Amino acid sequence: MSQHETTPQKMQVGFLRSCIDKRFVEVTRAYVEQVIGLEADAYYHEAVAGGALGFPPPLNGADYVYHQAFVKEKFDLVCMVWQVHYDDCGGLPPEQNDPRYNNNKIFADFFDVFLSKDPLISFQLRYPLVQRHIFLIARLDDHGEPFVEVAPFD
Ligand SMILES: [Zn+2]
Repeated sequence: MSQHETTPQKMQVGFLRSCIDKRFVEVTRAYVEQVIGLEADAYYHEAVAGGALGFPPPLNGADYVYHQAFVKEKFDLVCMVWQVHYDDCGGLPPEQNDPRYNNNKIFADFFDVFLSKDPLISFQLRYPLVQRHIFLIARLDDHGEPFVEVAPFD
């Protein structure tokens, strides 16, 4: 073994799944880059109607990126970011879109995903080797401006 032998550092990348809603894509990406600290070219972004509560295609981006990281060992997947948004998400089933309880229902469903012990539902259990799972909620402020915050699940 050579004393100068070093293990090449794998690139550290992230993954973001957000809703396709164009009102919230830019602020969500800005949050990932400025607050979470991933460079714009250092994370995969899968946009799905409904975001973290939507139904991705069977060959989905999260599964692909996780496989590339932990089976193919192509890079270090250091965090996965799961976004939903309030204020009328057209990507969710109609019963979740009732304006009388829309935001509360979205919060409750997202919290259920966070707490779930079912690996088909829980992101932490489905992708267990990832160090950080971050849950974001995007919404409109009192002036109608979009912003993003970490889901208050604690
Ligand atoms: Zn949406």
